[in-house]
Amino acid sequence: MLSYSRGPELPLLDRTTSEQLEYVANRWPDRLAVVSAHQNKRLTWRELQASAASLAAGLSELGVSRGDRVGVWAMNCWEWIVVHFACAWLGAILVSVNPALRSRELSFVLMRSRIKVLFLREQDERAHYAHILSDAMTEGGAALQCTIRLETQEWTDLLSCHPQPAARSALDDVINIQYTSGTTGSPKGVLLTHRNLVNNGGLIARTLRYTEDDRICLPVPLSHCFGNVIGTMASLASGAGIILPNWCFDAAATLAAVQAEKATSLYGVPTMFIAELSLPDFSRFDVTSLRTGVMAGAPCPLELMRKVISDLHCPQLTIGYGLTETSPIITMSEADDDLERRVSSVGKVMPCTEIKVVSTTSGDIVERGTQGEICARGYMLMKGYDDEPEATARAIDSDGWFRSGDLGKMREDGYLQITGRAKDMIIRGGENVYPREIEEFLYTHPQIAEVHVTGLPDERLGEAVLAWIRLKPGATATAEEIRGFCHDQIARFKIPQYIRFVDSFPTTLSGKIQKYRIREMEISQRALEAKSRAASG
Ligand code: AMP
Repeated sequence: MLSYSRGPELPLLDRTTSEQLEYVANRWPDRLAVVSAHQNKRLTWRELQASAASLAAGLSELGVSRGDRVGVWAMNCWEWIVVHFACAWLGAILVSVNPALRSRELSFVLMRSRIKVLFLREQDERAHYAHILSDAMTEGGAALQCTIRLETQEWTDLLSCHPQPAARSALDDVINIQYTSGTTGSPKGVLLTHRNLVNNGGLIARTLRYTEDDRICLPVPLSHCFGNVIGTMASLASGAGIILPNWCFDAAATLAAVQAEKATSLYGVPTMFIAELSLPDFSRFDVTSLRTGVMAGAPCPLELMRKVISDLHCPQLTIGYGLTETSPIITMSEADDDLERRVSSVGKVMPCTEIKVVSTTSGDIVERGTQGEICARGYMLMKGYDDEPEATARAIDSDGWFRSGDLGKMREDGYLQITGRAKDMIIRGGENVYPREIEEFLYTHPQIAEVHVTGLPDERLGEAVLAWIRLKPGATATAEEIRGFCHDQIARFKIPQYIRFVDSFPTTLSGKIQKYRIREMEISQRALEAKSRAASG
């Protein structure tokens, strides 16, 4: 049998985001929509809708109109969700900006996305966002007309505007731009429509059997599709409430929020579940309200799945797979799939979605059980990359198939396994790191002649970033100096944890750098160094 699978054709929702918000707010006005535990803030659906409608009016007064871009560059907070729905209400496009970005990256995103108004906080323990923004503005960001600081009078004033009726948007209007580096180095804006996001959220909610009684604990970032679609949009589709435990991931805060708010569903990348289960006072938390959740972003080890099911009380935990470009979810396990299927696969194709596995050389569909590149087609496929028709054409063929860059196998039973990556990407604790982006940045260092970045296996994070660097003749530098150079310019998770200075790199006969050999050489070199340290110490 060939590696092609098509999900059941279910009726898709034909509501825009704001129509769906109106529907949920009318149906369950007084039910909880959002709790932000770290901000001590609660909003019902009626309040969320009213805030979105007021902020939409405030944005209109600032000169934002339909199709304009509005950015949010912030950690998880209730305001993030209000900005999201205000944009939908106004027909503006929400640009999700990763709060880990630093000046260079921010300047790139501001310039490319043509954000008119940007929401941000002045500062927190991790960064002084206002300073980073001003550095970024000196480098570019021309379209930015106005910034709004959350938690200031300015923000409160915008929320007190007289609410305006929702704009009429079309289902295929773009509502959200999320940045991802795709298969090449420079970040690209993924254009996602109401149809994409409302329905991906709806089908996820259906698979997880969400109702308005569910409460989803969201320790994953709202700036990424895991928080913003698998979280917020699944909540919007079902009326389930969202619980934000903290600004960013914190294992203890997550379990405390599960307990306090009686969460029924918990999300995370594998490393987050590991951190929660290894808390020394894990048994102190009452997690018995949980029933389900989503683990995605990286492969889930068997032992971890067992523990999440038993100790974390999530018998219906599901595994999801997808990419920002596919809204994101294209395959998922079912709530009652057996353990073997849940740990050895990423589930089966979602409704209204087609997947196939093709040969990386011929492009033909391979037999089931044979490895190839995973491709997907359907309602959930992005409209394209913002302003990048060539990259869009490379990613989506004329028949509407999207190439994921992931390698996988379709089993006889139709369940999909991820076996590797055709693209050169590191997944560090659930964060995608694109070597080429870091390499391009490191080339701006005056002492560096050549650099190659790859991932090393890491027990805690899954993978860690490794850079091999050749310095210019006569130049000297230390690993600490290189890391210092990265600091404040690129996100912390991209800064190489391991740096080695070398004179040459392993290459193929045609001169192509062999990253897998860099990895192998580094691993054996580290083992040697550890041995000699042990012998001398
Ligand atoms: P993003 O666009 O940030 O959502 O990243 C998408 C990439 O994450 C995919 O192309 C995969 O390489 C990886 N990924 C997502 N879900 C899984 C999963 N369940 N198991 C393994 N890798 C995954």
